[in-house]
Amino acid sequence: MSNPPLEIDPETGWKLCPLCRRPIPPAKESKHHLIPKLKGGKHGPVAIVHEICHGKIHSVFTEAELAKNFATIELMLEHEEIQKFVKWVKKRPPEYKSSNRGNHRRK
Ligand SMILES: [Zn+2]
Ligand SMILES: [Zn+2]
Repeated sequence: MSNPPLEIDPETGWKLCPLCRRPIPPAKESKHHLIPKLKGGKHGPVAIVHEICHGKIHSVFTEAELAKNFATIELMLEHEEIQKFVKWVKKRPPEYKSSNRGNHRRK
């Protein structure tokens, strides 16, 4: 298995999140190991998603479920909880992350 294809938003030049299909501000990029590291996915495929989307993935699925049944973005998108989340998050600005506004931490 290889990394999912990386798409770039032509307007911002940012990567597109494969989960919610919105561009990801560089400071909000988060790497999800499609096969959990604990399950041998340390060098496996990685998806670049929003921090908030990444948090959602891990709140819905356990490591065991991810490894067994949800090892691709397509499979996760079939899950009702994820569909609801994507619908909701699409209406937020790309920078949205619950509360801590004004935190301009940079690398
Ligand atoms: Zn993850
Ligand atoms: Zn996202």
